[in-house]
Amino acid sequence: MPGRNFLFIPGPTNIPDRINRAMHLAQEDMRAPDLPNFTKPLYEDMKKVFKTTTGRVFIFPASGTGGWEAGIANTLSPGDKVLMSGFGHFSNLWIDMCQRWGLNVQALEVDWGEGVPVERYAEILKADRKHEIKGVFATQNETATGVASDVKAVRKALDDASHPALLFVDGVSSVASMDFRMDEWCVDVCVSGSQKGLMLPTGLGIICMSQKAMEAAKTAKLPRCFFDIADQIKSNDMGFFPYTPPMNLLRGLRESLNILFEEGLENVFARHHRYAEATRAAVKAWGLKLVAKEPKWYSDTISAVFVPEGFNGTEVVRTAYRRYNLCLSIGLAKVAGKIFRIGHLGDMNELMLLAALSGAEMAMRDIGIKVEAGSGVAAAQEYLRASAKPSVEEARKI
Ligand SMILES: *Cc1c(COP(=O)(O)O)cnc(C)c1O
Repeated sequence: MPGRNFLFIPGPTNIPDRINRAMHLAQEDMRAPDLPNFTKPLYEDMKKVFKTTTGRVFIFPASGTGGWEAGIANTLSPGDKVLMSGFGHFSNLWIDMCQRWGLNVQALEVDWGEGVPVERYAEILKADRKHEIKGVFATQNETATGVASDVKAVRKALDDASHPALLFVDGVSSVASMDFRMDEWCVDVCVSGSQKGLMLPTGLGIICMSQKAMEAAKTAKLPRCFFDIADQIKSNDMGFFPYTPPMNLLRGLRESLNILFEEGLENVFARHHRYAEATRAAVKAWGLKLVAKEPKWYSDTISAVFVPEGFNGTEVVRTAYRRYNLCLSIGLAKVAGKIFRIGHLGDMNELMLLAALSGAEMAMRDIGIKVEAGSGVAAAQEYLRASAKPSVEEARKI
């Protein structure tokens, strides 16, 4: 098929040519004496993305799910009580993982379309005077529903209760695309992966741990081997790895960080917010509803859109794929068939986003959904025109 496939799923995301070139390398010796000159700044720079100076980054050959496992296995003990909440496919999978690890999981059920129930967390933490809860979990961005949660407020709930539990954050679809502050929010374990905001292929499970979490790791009793941070620390301290590292991906990560820092993290976040706003303007013009119930839950990396009663969201996705070479994302689990999702994160610009909105609109009309031709695209165009930089006047001078 001529032209490019239009990839608008919430991971893997589009890989910039610069990153592809940086990864297209002959294999190298992972014990080369000068490798630390590459690895040490890489780990230091990854800390900047998590916004931490006191925490420590660990990079495993794994996906985000491996990052979850690394975070849990290193810091908790069998039977430990943990407070979690489920409001979509990914937050529920995280709950499932903690249950399978033999933790004592208190999982709050939350309506899909809402996020971490901070008030309920606050009450439970205040009532837990004996500090039986060892971990509090928050999915910063639920990719299945396009819902973002307030991590800072979860920290405040812990502080208000003077509760010592570790704070775990799933940042797989938010780190490097939406604001995340490891130190300021006193997060203890943050999990991310390579194939979303970092614009790389899948294959790196990246976690950041606080000093408190690393202290907990010294006495935590869950079994671990491949994901043991003690082995990582020993080798990483010298600039090496306890087992063969995915060097091409690490070279790609170096280029990804270069690209992010050249744009500036705050600009990256603002860009994602603009694309999300443009997408939401399109959804509104189509007369459709987001799964996210209120603006405070809106995600800047992914929008999940309900199709009208009697239509199948999966058919929208299939039609877009077969007829227009556009990859949108299907609904998962409870919302399968009821929605489709538009991923708007990573390496993206205005016209790429408009192409995806255009394809979504065409596919919806193809299966009989009554959206007006061009309505969503026009609304997104107008939002993007009004907020584009440079301004029209400045652009004349360039
Ligand atoms: C993608 C994703 C995961 C899982 O990551 P994998 O790389 O697929 O293992 C976990 N949490 C969230 C929020 C995600 O978006």
